[in-house]
Amino acid sequence: MRKSVLAEPKETCFGCGACEQICPRMAIRMCADLEGFRFPRIDPDLCVECDLCIRACPVLMKNRDSILNLPKQVYAARNKDPKMWMHSTSAAVFPIFAQAMLAQGGVVYGCAWTGDNLEAAHIRVDHERDLLRLSQSKYVQSSTGKTFQAVRHDLERKLPVLYSGTPCQIAGLRLFLRKEYARLLTIDLLCHGVPSPVMFSAYVAGLARREHGPIADFKFRDKQISGFRAYVSYLCPNGNRRFRLAGLEPYLYGFYRELFNRESCYRCPFQQSNRAGDITIADYWGLERHHPELADWNRYGASLCMINTPNGLCWTSKLEAAAELVESTIEYAASSNPALRTPPESHHRPALRGEIYRELQAHGFDWIAARYLRPRFVWLHRLIPARLKNLLRLLRRNQ
Ligand SMILES: Cc1cc2nc3c(=O)[nH]c(=O)nc-3n(C[C@H](O)[C@H](O)[C@H](O)COP(=O)(O)OP(=O)(O)OC[C@H]3O[C@@H](n4cnc5c(N)ncnc54)[C@H](O)[C@@H]3O)c2cc1C
Repeated sequence: MRKSVLAEPKETCFGCGACEQICPRMAIRMCADLEGFRFPRIDPDLCVECDLCIRACPVLMKNRDSILNLPKQVYAARNKDPKMWMHSTSAAVFPIFAQAMLAQGGVVYGCAWTGDNLEAAHIRVDHERDLLRLSQSKYVQSSTGKTFQAVRHDLERKLPVLYSGTPCQIAGLRLFLRKEYARLLTIDLLCHGVPSPVMFSAYVAGLARREHGPIADFKFRDKQISGFRAYVSYLCPNGNRRFRLAGLEPYLYGFYRELFNRESCYRCPFQQSNRAGDITIADYWGLERHHPELADWNRYGASLCMINTPNGLCWTSKLEAAAELVESTIEYAASSNPALRTPPESHHRPALRGEIYRELQAHGFDWIAARYLRPRFVWLHRLIPARLKNLLRLLRRNQ
């Protein structure tokens, strides 16, 4: 481990945490670098070079293709219950599997806001009342903490387990476990890259300053006012929810332009059609082109759902019971979703990326937002009088 991992270029580590969690000597700790991304740090005095960490590492594994599967079924999907669309990022396909897992006495792992400062971390949920914490994409790298160890413990106690996460996290979990479990269902998201926790907390700290107190919750897609993708929202210290136009938020501007990605995301080997999870969920971009009869789904978000393994196929009856499904193809889905098809060598790393992180450290988020993250037509928004904006919001809400 000492030699191999220390010799690995930092750009390739996904930060999944499998090495830290598998080390029997607790010789590895995930520590944040200056940009805020977590990397393994090895204590040479504790390391006995057993190589378990090397075998659990999705970067160092020799035959990555052996853990990836080409989807067997591809669907445009949405939850049959419209109330669920409002809580979720796309069309609430994740909660279908999560509820079914809890109904059969299992447990669900996924990403939630934790701590006082909105830290994204994986948590274990064993009761329906906590499931909502996992809904909504948190567009920042989540810490897997000790959840791989907890999954192994649950599986050894014969509990059915659902684990959802980015493809590199799912690959890390599967290598950590070192064997297949029929009781484990893995769901990976299509993911084009994760920003650092430090970038997100710097952004939220700015909001907290403006609101004169801590921000208690953040939704990257709040569909209440105007459906899919128009607004982000957060909970102010006075308990009110504040809505802001997503198109004008500097954090989202940087996220969608991949200005904040972890370095390994720019050469991510998991951005392809072969998948690490039993099931893959995502937005169905380009739905109106390939399935024009479903174009109105876009109002509150449409999901792509792919079933990749025989284990995943066992769950199709649950999906059919709770979702509207229309058969689709991987070619259709990939044509508008780069996270499903980008070969690593053609990834685009924006030239500004390094500069932005350096200047974040030197000057803070508001400074980089003003300099690099200004949506082009922001001034048009300023021309609309506040009263008119409020009226438009009210009209949309009552539509
Ligand atoms: C960083 C990131 C990048 C993404 N990029 C793309 C993309 O390029 N193209 C695309 O089509 N879809 C992308 N997605 C997926 C998409 O945003 C939705 O998460 C997905 O469609 C599921 O929606 P849903 O309505 O079924 O689930 P919801 O009910 O909204 O549940 C959200 C699910 O995402 C998981 N999750 C949330 N945040 C994180 C996180 N930070 N790390 C790991 N797991 C998380 C939760 O555990 C839960 O399983 C991305 C998601 C993330 C977190």
